[in-house]
Amino acid sequence: MERREAAQERVGELTERAASVQTRIDEATARRDAAAAELEAEVATATKERAVVAGSVPADLLALYDKLRAQQGGVGAARLYQRRCEGCRLELNITEVNEVKAAAPDTVLRCENCRRILVRTADSGV
Ligand SMILES: [Zn+2]
Repeated sequence: MERREAAQERVGELTERAASVQTRIDEATARRDAAAAELEAEVATATKERAVVAGSVPADLLALYDKLRAQQGGVGAARLYQRRCEGCRLELNITEVNEVKAAAPDTVLRCENCRRILVRTADSGV
């Protein structure tokens, strides 16, 4: 009889524990689902924004960018910052710097090392 009571007590404890674990699982699932919904909303917003920007880029340049992006792990263009390609992190040599300096503002420049499109800014260092 004593063993039976002890076993029933143990079953009660385990049932309570299982309910507690299930509550934690339900809470974690709800947090995961909320985070996934938030990410999906961010993706939808970013996709819309990209479509707007892509619409303002000439078709041939966009095609080049998309091709490079596919080849370069998702990054088809990189900022030229202080004479360094931020795509591959290599510094341009003096010949390349001079080519960038001489190029018209609307010329599409490419990194000689990684071939990404170089985006010039006021901080390009040229
Ligand atoms: Zn590069």
